[in-house]
Amino acid sequence: MPFAYPFVGNRALLEDARADGPTGVPWLSADQALARVVPGLLEEGATFVVSLGGVVLVAPRRSEHVACAGGLEVLAAGELFFASVGGRLRLVRATNQSTGYCPDLDSWSALDHALVKADVAAPSGFDPEFLFRRCDACGELSVVKERWFVCPFCDAELPRAWNVSARRPVDVA
Ligand SMILES: [Zn+2]
Repeated sequence: MPFAYPFVGNRALLEDARADGPTGVPWLSADQALARVVPGLLEEGATFVVSLGGVVLVAPRRSEHVACAGGLEVLAAGELFFASVGGRLRLVRATNQSTGYCPDLDSWSALDHALVKADVAAPSGFDPEFLFRRCDACGELSVVKERWFVCPFCDAELPRAWNVSARRPVDVA
């Protein structure tokens, strides 16, 4: 079962995003001319979230995930990288790098499911995989590097299991 991840970042960003609504372009089919509506997508990749409705929303790389999602919870968030193969857009790599949502690796299944629904060929998993943790001692968020579960801010040991926010399990069709 997927999880709905709430935004864990700056309050002002969240309020702006809610006021503006989602800026991400829904990616609904492999034939869609996504590169024409998302500037820089082929050159530098893009920001993505998977909405609670199970749709991939894509925005320019430097966009905040929370803006892409309109401030709502997401099933997945990260980055997408593309190539143009014979004039067709191909998704070559995806990551779960989003410091706004800090999604765990299990969010892969929500992205994979959304891509299958859109008939888009998907890679086999996140590359690279980001492990987000919250420090129980100082409360700071960090990314675990090379399986070194130590807080870079206070040197306390970090938990082995994902613990960033009060994500909730959701039923999706
Ligand atoms: Zn700490």
